[in-house]
Amino acid sequence: MIWLKNLEAITHGGPPGKCPHCGGSHTDCSFSVVVPEKRLGYGDIWCEDCKHACHISRIEVLPGFRTGHTPPEGLVYS
Ligand SMILES: [Zn+2]
Repeated sequence: MIWLKNLEAITHGGPPGKCPHCGGSHTDCSFSVVVPEKRLGYGDIWCEDCKHACHISRIEVLPGFRTGHTPPEGLVYS
């Protein structure tokens, strides 16, 4: 998974970091909680520069994660 380092950075409470596709620093992320008792949900990490994105279908949404935000249109999932 090419976005693994970005996911690790988020898990450690930081910003997503550089885009693994273009090296740009305009990355963003958003998560949604589906099962509140277990904080289980899904999320997306994307790059505003090249529009590449990664969907995480199952993840524990930690308290510091950014939620309630919709990814922009036209992302390319890889
Ligand atoms: Zn990029």
